[in-house]
Amino acid sequence: MFDYLIVGAGYAGSVLAERLARGAGKKVLLVDRRPHIGGNAYDCYDDAGILIHKYGPHIFHTNSKEVFEYLSEFTEWRPYEHRVRASVDGQLVPIPINLDTINQLYGLKLNSMEVETFFASMAEARDSIRTSEDVVVSRVGRELYEKFFRGYTRKQWGLDPSQLDAMVTSRVPVRNNRDDRYFTDTYQAMPQRGYTRMFENMLDHPNIKILLNCDYHEVKDEVAYDKLIFTGPVDEYFGYRYGKLPYRSLRFDFRTVNQEWVQPVAVVNYPNEHLYTRVTEFKRLTGQEHPTKSTLVYEFPQGEGDPYYPVPRPENAELYKKYQALAEATPDVLFVGRLATYKYYNMDQVVGQALATYARLMGQKRSEATRGALASTAVSAGVARQVRRRTDVAEVAEIASRRGA
Ligand code: FAD
Ligand code: UDP
Repeated sequence: MFDYLIVGAGYAGSVLAERLARGAGKKVLLVDRRPHIGGNAYDCYDDAGILIHKYGPHIFHTNSKEVFEYLSEFTEWRPYEHRVRASVDGQLVPIPINLDTINQLYGLKLNSMEVETFFASMAEARDSIRTSEDVVVSRVGRELYEKFFRGYTRKQWGLDPSQLDAMVTSRVPVRNNRDDRYFTDTYQAMPQRGYTRMFENMLDHPNIKILLNCDYHEVKDEVAYDKLIFTGPVDEYFGYRYGKLPYRSLRFDFRTVNQEWVQPVAVVNYPNEHLYTRVTEFKRLTGQEHPTKSTLVYEFPQGEGDPYYPVPRPENAELYKKYQALAEATPDVLFVGRLATYKYYNMDQVVGQALATYARLMGQKRSEATRGALASTAVSAGVARQVRRRTDVAEVAEIASRRGA
């Protein structure tokens, strides 16, 4: 008899399995229909021996000390600040748009104050900022919107930015300085030995049993359990009773080349050319060295396929509300994660959501959710074997703030 059946071994399911087993002594059965743990953050070595992210580039960044320290129990980190270039008008320029982007693109020598005046002269006034088009056009105007955002967004989502919530393009800021980092979070780092290794450490506990290649429907009537935690698509759980929630999918095209390096930075975005949106060179993310080979992934957006992105727009939020009401009327089942709560969440947000769920289950304050993670980890021989050294959290934070200064 299991205390919990957890469906999905991504962040949501794995964090809850770890906490319930190690923090509360519960017996957990964790199932995933894929042949591996880690969900969309899964990484593995390809035939050339390069560590790749099977479901597209995953870069860890967070402002939450709690989330970073919690994950640090299961991995060492390699400090990494993400930088992206966009291919626009035949040049590779920094994205997010910053001072250098404008100077490079228009052959100017503006300073920070002058570039603000430049943006203001291009910007179109909007009464309210509702859509992803409003966000960009009201800040930098139509020309830059069309160069950097319109084409990319139409490819990525199959929708015009005017049909998407403001939060989608708001993820990418506009800067008047020369900061070319994609993120400005306090903690920016990649798991030293990869995400999968981090998940293995997290799930290495005698109270956690893992079943892979196994759909929820195959086990739900076969095993005895007390409570269910579901981290798959919420509409699927309820048999699409109100219709399908739209998700955007991707096709990943991996290419290995006989070259040490291909791109100047880890990711190059292609807003206007090609059917793909971006190309990632993995070694630049992971820090892996290989003198003669490099693997890249090209992302081709598509409507059908694995559900990767909830699509943030008003009608989908309305439909999700109906499923949310059903979920709330099903108290024996907890819905956690990006697909189960239909939220365009980053990894750290899902970890935070899972920790908050655990705290609620235990009747604890949120700040108490990670209590004992290391204390009990240390007595688990398996994990102690693999967690070589506690990450120096202060060091990563210090590096991040020094670069930001
Ligand atoms: P998932 O990782 O999707 O895990 C859910 C699991 O449930 C899956 O493994 C699935 O197989 C399983 N499952 C579903 N239904 C069933 C069922 N019926 N039976 C059995 N198993 C089932 N975040 C960042 O912070 N930084 C990034 O750089 C970043 N890049 C991303 C790039 C891409 C292309 C994508 C798609 C996402 C990216 N993310 C990034 C977001 C990140 O992947 C998610 O926030 C995180 O992985 C969500 O974890 P989860 O546990 O909610 O869901
Ligand atoms: N975006 C864009 N051009 C870019 C980068 C991003 O139009 O060069 C828009 C696009 O709609 C994208 C969204 O901003 O889906 C969020 O970008 P982000 O890089 O955060 O996407 P993710 O990594 O989640 O795929």
